[in-house]
Amino acid sequence: MSEPDLSSRAAGGGWRLEHSYAQLPALLHVAVAPTAVRAPQVVVWNRKLAEELGLEAEALAARAEIFSGNRLPPGAAALAQAYAGHQYGHFTTLGDGRAILLGEQITPGGQRFDVQLKGAGPTPFSRRGDGRAPLGAMLREYVISEAMQALGIPTTRSLAVVATGEDVWRQNGARPGAVLTRVAASHLRVGTFEWVAARRDEAALRALVAYTAQRHYPELAGAENMPLALLEAVSERQARLMAQWMGVGFVHGVMNTDNMALSGETIDYGPCAFMEAYDPATVFSSIDRDGRYAFGNQPQIAQWNIARFAETLLTVFHPQEAPAIALANEAVGRFGERFRRHWIAGMRRKLGLFNEEPEDEALAGSLLEWMRATKADFTNTFAELETLGATKADGEFAAWQARWRARLERQPQTAEEVGRLRRAHCPAVIPRNHRVEEALVEAEAGEVRVMERLLEVLAAPYDHERAWATPEYRAPAPEGGEEYRTFCGT
Ligand code: AMP
Ligand code: MG
Repeated sequence: MSEPDLSSRAAGGGWRLEHSYAQLPALLHVAVAPTAVRAPQVVVWNRKLAEELGLEAEALAARAEIFSGNRLPPGAAALAQAYAGHQYGHFTTLGDGRAILLGEQITPGGQRFDVQLKGAGPTPFSRRGDGRAPLGAMLREYVISEAMQALGIPTTRSLAVVATGEDVWRQNGARPGAVLTRVAASHLRVGTFEWVAARRDEAALRALVAYTAQRHYPELAGAENMPLALLEAVSERQARLMAQWMGVGFVHGVMNTDNMALSGETIDYGPCAFMEAYDPATVFSSIDRDGRYAFGNQPQIAQWNIARFAETLLTVFHPQEAPAIALANEAVGRFGERFRRHWIAGMRRKLGLFNEEPEDEALAGSLLEWMRATKADFTNTFAELETLGATKADGEFAAWQARWRARLERQPQTAEEVGRLRRAHCPAVIPRNHRVEEALVEAEAGEVRVMERLLEVLAAPYDHERAWATPEYRAPAPEGGEEYRTFCGT
């Protein structure tokens, strides 16, 4: 890792950028500067995140020229990352086609975060793309990633959205363009390894293993078989992440291997959306016709992606192929059990269970089955399990509730303790699709207050008292909510 750039700190703004990724083998990056835009204007600025990063939140708040890419912050060294990926099951070489990394900001606490401009102009990896992004899509990423953060789910963050003053052309015509400043533990992905493995550069592969382990899994230092230890660690974090998604009804929508971060953060908010009525078959993305990335498939797909990750490491697991494959299979095979462990632990918290009984999984399963059959709202059902029976004259639910109450009796905790645990794990508000859309339409038209209000509500999803005062944010879409569609090609 390089020495901190003292000159950048002296230049103000709180910037302290380092460039450890740029020191990886050359096949992993290309130096490329953002392309200037005509009339940059800050639409939304994440002051709290800026402070966490050690940036001068006030001084930088209006610096549209920096967060559009028109002027690089002191100490920046812009580059695009190379990677490959399996998209909808098919291998392709990719790379940052519209995202440019400025460097790694070192926080006052010594943490390292990538600062990347998304929509900053073409790169050598743009293929036929314009390198740009529409304002609506970037605001969507801002809103949903910040909602995920407030929900306590590992995620990339959004520091700013700057309108470019230029149009971008998409299927739906000319849209206002924007640049999003994305902050991430790193942008290393399964696809980064796929790229190096495809190039058959074993030295680069070993360097990448060491770098990823050091950056995200320092506890692995000294591991006997580092590639294998890394695979297990990444697998464990993904299993936990999937359980967290499944616990709040999040549908990522485009779980290609290039969109799976090795840090375990949720990344790439393209066609994602939150499920309302519970149904494992829920798909929002207009291009995911076979439902490959449906809500209920996500754990399996994560495992499939982990298997692709394992394949990239075969040559460094073991000098011989057969034992290397055996090691990989074993590690990948453990994913299901890892996920189940996190999932049931999460369900126990949502149900207010402090101790463990073998039937807990069945208890959670029957609740979900009832929700599916009755198209019950996933979020609100969990949030209101105690009181639901009073309004829903449903014999099946009443029977479930009696079973649940009997189960609660078999632990020493009081109703108050149960309530507290449940409220801390059952969000009262999620970014409901119609609320997000409404905020984006207004913001695209130049009125950001609706979005700001939404962001405020989404910042405290577990504050049930506060959420009760804003029932309009808790209600499912009036009608046809399940018909909601998100569009790729953003
Ligand atoms: P995604 O599925 O959103 O992760 O994108 C897949 C790939 O397409 C990534 O390599 C992106 O950099 C690239 N890409 C998406 N949109 C554009 C665009 N407008 N211009 C250039 N590249 C793009
Ligand atoms: Mg992507």
